[in-house]
Parts: sequence; C-alpha cells; structure tokens
Amino acid sequence: MHEKDPTGKIRIVKIKDGTVIDHIRAGHALDVLRILGITGKEGNIVTLAMNISSSKIERKDIVKIEDRILKAEELDRIALVAPEATINLIENYEVVQKNRVELPNIITDVIQCTNMRCITNKEREPIQAKYEVVSKHPTQLKCKYCWTLINEDDIIAQFCS
Ligand SMILES: [Zn+2]
Repeated sequence: MHEKDPTGKIRIVKIKDGTVIDHIRAGHALDVLRILGITGKEGNIVTLAMNISSSKIERKDIVKIEDRILKAEELDRIALVAPEATINLIENYEVVQKNRVELPNIITDVIQCTNMRCITNKEREPIQAKYEVVSKHPTQLKCKYCWTLINEDDIIAQFCS
C-alpha cells in the first residue's frame, strides 16, 4: 500500500493504524513533532515526508504516527505551528476520520510567556499561562497577564531547544 506522487514514484508507505498529519507547511514537520513532544523514544513508528508536491505551486510536509491517536489538546498544539494541517485517523489502512486543526480562541499552558518578568514565569506562582489568540494566520498570541505579544517564531523557538 503506497502513495504515489505525480511522477509515479513511491513516496510514503500507508500506515495500518494511527494518525496522519497532512498539509503541514513545508519545512515544519519537525516543529509538529516537537510541539507534540515526540522524540522517537516512544517506540511508535514515525514517518516524515518533507517538501512533497501538493499542487503545482505549493509544497507540504506529512507526518505519520503509527498506533497513536492524538488528543484534542494535541490537535490544538499542532495548529500553533501548522495552522493548515489536516488530521487523518487511520484504521486498517482506511481514513475513518478527517479533521482540520483549528486554533482555539484561548490557549493555556503549552507556551511559555516570552516576558521573563511575567507572573506566569515566576516559579513560586502557581499560575497557569493563558493566552488570547489575536491572529490565527500567522499565529499571534497575547498573554492574558502581561499583554506581551507572542508570534509564530517565538512559539517555534520554544520547541526547538
Ligand atoms: Zn506574560
């Protein structure tokens, strides 16, 4: 079971069960793995394809994670770095569910406020970070506590260390 690109070459093996994250902006597959906290040590088979021809002009990345179903909060996280992504749930080689990721209007916790003096960054304060999503394309968040604006590059940088 293989997918073929327009030139007929076999690119990626279809998976039996698991999740396919498709239509990730080209070059952002690794960011998606980072934001999901997937390191490869979990034991799941993970297949990455980068810079795949999606249409004549656009290229995309695809991530396939075998034997894993993503939770709703994980889908929200993907939206932070890959707002156009689609999530396909695969069972026995068939797509049984297809969802677009969508940034919620409020994001809690996942991201650290870039203002180091923000109350959410004080270790002694058990305050959960909370952000208002001010823009979805491109992603921009506003800290509910100090009003610092956090853009896409800041978000990606947090998952690259
Ligand atoms: Zn803040």
